[in-house]
Amino acid sequence: MRTRKGLKLRFVLGLLVIGSVLLTAVIGGYFALSANKASLTAGYLESNSQYAKKLASNTSELLQIMRNNIEAVASMASKQMISQKELDIWYAANEQYFNSILLVDADRTVKATSFNSKGVEVGMVLSSVASFQAVQQKRTLISEPYVGAMTHHLLVLISSPIVNEAGEYEGFAAGTIYLDDSNALNKLLSEHFYGNGSYVYVADKYGHLIFHPDKTRLNESITTNEVINKAISGLSGAQEIINSQGGSYFAGYANEPMTGWAIVAQTPTSIVEKPLKKLIWDIVLKSFPIFVIILLVAWRVSYLISKPLFELAAFSEEAILSSGAAHSKMPKASSYIYEVRQLNQSINNHLALLNKEIRLDGLTGLANRKTFDLTIQEWLADDIPFALILLDIDHFKKINDQHGHLIGDAVLTDIASIIKTFSRSNDLCFRYGGEEFGILVKFGNVQTAVQMAERLREAVAVKASPTGSPIFVSIGISCKDGKTVSAKELIEMADIALYQSKAEGRNRTTVYETEKTGQP
Ligand code: GH3
Ligand code: MG
Ligand code: MG
Repeated sequence: MRTRKGLKLRFVLGLLVIGSVLLTAVIGGYFALSANKASLTAGYLESNSQYAKKLASNTSELLQIMRNNIEAVASMASKQMISQKELDIWYAANEQYFNSILLVDADRTVKATSFNSKGVEVGMVLSSVASFQAVQQKRTLISEPYVGAMTHHLLVLISSPIVNEAGEYEGFAAGTIYLDDSNALNKLLSEHFYGNGSYVYVADKYGHLIFHPDKTRLNESITTNEVINKAISGLSGAQEIINSQGGSYFAGYANEPMTGWAIVAQTPTSIVEKPLKKLIWDIVLKSFPIFVIILLVAWRVSYLISKPLFELAAFSEEAILSSGAAHSKMPKASSYIYEVRQLNQSINNHLALLNKEIRLDGLTGLANRKTFDLTIQEWLADDIPFALILLDIDHFKKINDQHGHLIGDAVLTDIASIIKTFSRSNDLCFRYGGEEFGILVKFGNVQTAVQMAERLREAVAVKASPTGSPIFVSIGISCKDGKTVSAKELIEMADIALYQSKAEGRNRTTVYETEKTGQP
């Protein structure tokens, strides 16, 4: 493809096409992937945002139901003494909500507990912050999550005051929700397991994890988590985050208003990789046949475009190497392409001109020495009979000296035109060099040559010349007969005859060897 002289057009066009098609495919693929990735990302962010909001509102509803339940127990206890049995029955009906139910007096002493309250027994005095708050505030409360001193569970206490009919405060009814155990709240938050790596976690308003699939992380402080902080401050939304473990996630977040909890639903960002990889394969597989077709078509078109140019280039290279542009055959470079047509035409014109210039003498327009040499060789080879007339201007140097070279040139041109008028169409008139001319008289014998030479010599002598004075020429003639074999011999013979004309006084015609005619 690459030669010493440069790259071939076909190769460059091919490269250009392959390059453009590949680049277009890569750019197109890149944009398709980016658009897909953006839409998948937006989809996951939106669905996680919606899911976190939905969880927050469901949690609110659930907490509200739980509050109502505890208020109902407190209200019952306000009216009459609730026995252990009655409490157990009530608990059995509500055990999906609470891990235990307690009835506590104003001194925080446990009066009754449901059968599930492991670690807490009747008669014990509660010491948790939540129990102090319940007694002090005497209203329905949802406590901050804390680790129970007896149960060792991370729990939330919902309490409601018991006030007797006389309006005296008697203590509170309470339900516990173990955040690390099974209950309605836990179930609600755990539902988000899609099997695609998505999960939900919840932090209290101080940034402590109170719900997480990994139970060992409960109570851990995650205040560096951006979305947790946003949700704690009451915001909801979604964004891409890197978690404390260095994993990248699409996180949706929302705030639960009753407790101030931050609820986050998140999906690993690697979830979009699989569909994107599939998309890349789809693009590659589906575009491959089209790519191959484009390449083949482009290759063919670039071949057709470059073919005429290639032929022209090969032709000129060959012409240069053989230094024979004039003789090589010009290729027929047909093309519909404007530039190629123009180039072809221009090379054709140029070659025609070159051919002419190579063959002709620049000053007189007669055939030059080279053409004379070729023609004489040709005629000899073809065994064509002919005579050679050689002609030399007499005392031409003087003309130059007296009238200058321009006039000298004009005399040469003048003589040339006279020579042309005295030759026939088959003959070859030429400038042999300097002020020497000649005619190859085709099929000419001595007689015809002498006649022609004499008429010419006389015509020159009588014609008004550019110098103002008559010009004379001396002529030598040789003739190809059976014995003559080479051009050199023929030229030498004519030359000898011409020399003889000069020697014998000029302005005359001499035939080689014996015959002499045309005395002045
Ligand atoms: P003779 O009669 O013996 O031929 O004498 P001559 O002066 O013609 O011959 P010579 O060979 O001494 O001089 C030829 C001159 O022709 C010399 C050269 O300057 C002149 N000449 C050759 N070519 C050209 C040309 O193209 N233009 C002009 N103006 N002069 C030329
Ligand atoms: Mg001369
Ligand atoms: Mg001369």
